[in-house]
Amino acid sequence: MEQYEPLEIIGTGSFGLIRKVRRKTDGKILARKEIDYRRMNEKERNQLSAEFSILCELDHPNIVRYYDRHVDKINCMIYIIMEYCEGGDLSSIIKKCKKEGTFLSENTIWHFFTQILRALHECHYGYGKNKCGSNHSQQHITILHRDIKPDNVFLGSDNKLKLGDFGLSRKLNLDREFAQTYVGTPFYMSPELITESLYDVKSDIWSLGCLLYELCALQPPFQAKSQPVLAIKISTGTISPIPSRYSDELYNIIKAMLMVDPNKRPTTMELIKMLNPNKDIAYRE
Ligand code: ADP
Ligand code: MG
Repeated sequence: MEQYEPLEIIGTGSFGLIRKVRRKTDGKILARKEIDYRRMNEKERNQLSAEFSILCELDHPNIVRYYDRHVDKINCMIYIIMEYCEGGDLSSIIKKCKKEGTFLSENTIWHFFTQILRALHECHYGYGKNKCGSNHSQQHITILHRDIKPDNVFLGSDNKLKLGDFGLSRKLNLDREFAQTYVGTPFYMSPELITESLYDVKSDIWSLGCLLYELCALQPPFQAKSQPVLAIKISTGTISPIPSRYSDELYNIIKAMLMVDPNKRPTTMELIKMLNPNKDIAYRE
């Protein structure tokens, strides 16, 4: 850790601080998650190390890049070095709009959406890079983010959006993936095994739908003062329309992602196909 000069604190996470650091070798500015693991139970420690091994496999322009990890056993600290996202997170952009009484332009919303969609597509259908010591060749991995929300989408110094905070994410069991993909028809596979995995990928789609809705309406689609009431609202899936300044195309894509039946929600693959290709080119600028 002596290679990194500590700079100011940029955020507080559930496990500890996020600090800006400068890499001494080349002056590069990076972010460091500083985690005190003394108060963590074994499950949380395992979760943390799982987070890191998942992140090592992801190498995509729209996903926060993870570089290095260091364990300081004497002080019970874990340091995770990652890409520094200087533009903050999407929740602060939403807050700013609300405060100023403005809305994001439709172009900006499509631009944001395509980037988060690409990141999620990489998680759901990407190929692991196996940078963390595994000597397998590239293999298909399915990573569920499980906590997609405005606070976990960052703005990088390259002006790109970055999906981050994989603290709750989980890699689908590889054996199961192989069973489905490579060992012929799994005649004896139980329904819950199938629906569970389908449901999980589609829950990320649901969250993505909520995020897209909030970018338009500047508030989440489902809100309530208590959890039981919220659960009822979510299970009916009824939403108020987004502001009329936005197109039907945008509203329709949100409604598709917020279908109560997970089977009816599009996959990232289908969403990418649904996006108007001309638009996609324009948003790449
Ligand atoms: P938690 O698991 O507690 O939600 P996060 O990883 O989301 O922790 O980090 C908490 C906050 O710290 C974020 O909302 C963001 O403001 C800031 N932050 C986290 N990672 C970075 C980063 N790589 N670059 C810049 N800011 C970051
Ligand atoms: Mg977070």
